[in-house]
Amino acid sequence: MPAVSTSPAIAQVEPMTRTRALRGPFDYRLPEQLREGVGVGSMLVVPFGRREMLGVVVGLSESSEVADERLLEPLRALELGVPAELVALARWIADEYCSTLARALTLVLPPGAAQRLGGRARRRLAPPQHPSVGRRSGAAPELTAEQSAALVPVLAALAAGSHEQRLLHGVTASGKTEVYLRAGAAAIEQGRGAIVMVPEIALTPQIVARFVERFGETVAVLHSQLTPAQRYSEWRRLREGEARVCVGPRSAVFAPIERLGLIVVDEEHEPSYKHEGDPRYDAREVAAERARRAGAVLLLGSATPRPESALRVSTSTLTRRVDGSELPQVEVLDMRGEPQGLHVRTSAALAEVRAARGKAIVLLNRRGWSNFLSCRACGHAWSCPDCDVTLVLHRAGGYLACHHCGHREAAPERCSECSSSAVARHGAGTERLAHELARTLDDGRFPVFRLDADAVAADPHEATSAILGAFEQADCGVLIGTQMVAKGHDFEDVRLAVVLDADATLRFPDFRSEERTFALLAQLAGRAGRGGEGRVLVQTIAPDARAIRLAAAHDSAGFLAGELERRRALRYPPFAELIRIVCSAPQPEPARAAARELRAGILELAPEQELLGPAPLFRLRGRERQVIVVKTTERRPAVRAVGEAVERAALARRHAGVNYGVDVGPQ
Ligand code: ADP
Ligand code: ZN
Ligand code: ZN
Repeated sequence: MPAVSTSPAIAQVEPMTRTRALRGPFDYRLPEQLREGVGVGSMLVVPFGRREMLGVVVGLSESSEVADERLLEPLRALELGVPAELVALARWIADEYCSTLARALTLVLPPGAAQRLGGRARRRLAPPQHPSVGRRSGAAPELTAEQSAALVPVLAALAAGSHEQRLLHGVTASGKTEVYLRAGAAAIEQGRGAIVMVPEIALTPQIVARFVERFGETVAVLHSQLTPAQRYSEWRRLREGEARVCVGPRSAVFAPIERLGLIVVDEEHEPSYKHEGDPRYDAREVAAERARRAGAVLLLGSATPRPESALRVSTSTLTRRVDGSELPQVEVLDMRGEPQGLHVRTSAALAEVRAARGKAIVLLNRRGWSNFLSCRACGHAWSCPDCDVTLVLHRAGGYLACHHCGHREAAPERCSECSSSAVARHGAGTERLAHELARTLDDGRFPVFRLDADAVAADPHEATSAILGAFEQADCGVLIGTQMVAKGHDFEDVRLAVVLDADATLRFPDFRSEERTFALLAQLAGRAGRGGEGRVLVQTIAPDARAIRLAAAHDSAGFLAGELERRRALRYPPFAELIRIVCSAPQPEPARAAARELRAGILELAPEQELLGPAPLFRLRGRERQVIVVKTTERRPAVRAVGEAVERAALARRHAGVNYGVDVGPQ
């Protein structure tokens, strides 16, 4: 008589499909030989209709409601599945961000899982080479008093195995990374793992290098430039416990680490932690949830924390730079009534840096040569055929580009309407500024480097490292670029930092624009004067704006206090949560009608919610858009009501070509 298995016979399988209408899970009967090895998180290849599909086991049971003869069996199991706790996390994400379980599961599957349907055993690959540091020794320095104090609650929570959230609010170069490293070491010592999230690997090679240097082989680095095979290899090292620390961008929050002890979110204010695909998850919120479930410590760090974090999370502060250097003097230059371009004091300061063979960084948050072109004869302005925005001239490439949809066309020689050759170029972006600075400053010994998305388009990761490396290696020179120049890298010998058009980000119609402006200025100011004297110049037509004034005074506590007060008064996050729903269609009228009906639908399901809109947004990628915003203090029920109303509307299909997009906690 054959032995009767005591393992569950039925696997509930969620098929990996992006079709929203197809909701699992579906029951499959596990043949005897699969019963032992298959659990929640296992990946199975299952027959589905006439196709084979990859599915994830989301539950197990003894019996099924499906008639026995109709139950199918999986074709095979893949070698490695995901940890069960990540399946649970995916379920949370689907509910929290108004998505489906299948879509949320794609976030936690091994890289390239869908393509590896074959499930062949993989050849082991050597892990990718990580950057190493020449710039220190691997030994840990003695902590400053502030660092030690910041570590106390982290170590206590780790020792107790209890969940804890801490915010490390520390000026640039105050030693935050050293605190992360110590916390990581403590987690590893306990036999637990750690996740370290950074906004963008290419812009933060130093933090990656320091983790690799301190922890060696036990670090896995996930970044977008790895080949698929390398990504899988790093994932596998984590899954098998060979690597215990994962450093990476937002997707690192899904690293398959069991017995997780610590999640670090460096530069926690960075908008790139929000994912713009479906599900539109916020990696910081996911990190908090994962840490909560794992009984792990969440450590957020920033020189300019978000009001959300400052309000909700207990804070440790690092007030001084480790090397004792002072934060640089910031001078605000009032550009009202001044000609466009560089203020005389800016020009003089740059000339001084050149004379002293020093280094400077100039930030202008606008790519291209000119913001827009117009015809001097007839007034025609060049705009995107698919979006209601003007096209930006990229002179070196000889094209006009839409920075919203990527549309390109050849740069015009004459007006397309009246054939006049008098085409005016308005405004200046980084391409033009770099050209002009090279003309005025570069005497053959004072190089000008440019860092923006165009300069690194061919290979973002490599080219960014190359440009930052060249600037670092150079004896002197100036680095000009978009906000990319203000990020995590640190150069020891930058004596001048300049921000042009500092109020540009303030003009965004967004309640976070002040926060963004403040953070950008503070980050850039932090680049100057490490290991010496530094000076910062801020050109603006809004010298009295709160964000600019307080950034100039390095007053981030003051900024946070004021910002929280303002948000409380206006009921913005963190005092309420926003859910943004965009209805779009090729024609304006269906988009408007759909939005009006959706508004009514949401109110029917959730009468007490505060709703704003519908209001028009500019046309994007050929679609007319209407937006509705729900302001709520009860996020889950509001998300549920919105999800249901959207689903009903989508199924009813009353309006031609309408799409609905839901963004919970939009950035
Ligand atoms: P942050 O992350 O706040 O920008 P870092 O951790 O990078 O700051 O520290 C800035 C510099 O000071 C780094 O070169 C780091 O190695 C060094 N450092 C950090 N903590 C100490 C310490 N306790 N003693 C000496 N040097 C330190
Ligand atoms: Zn014309
Ligand atoms: Zn466009």
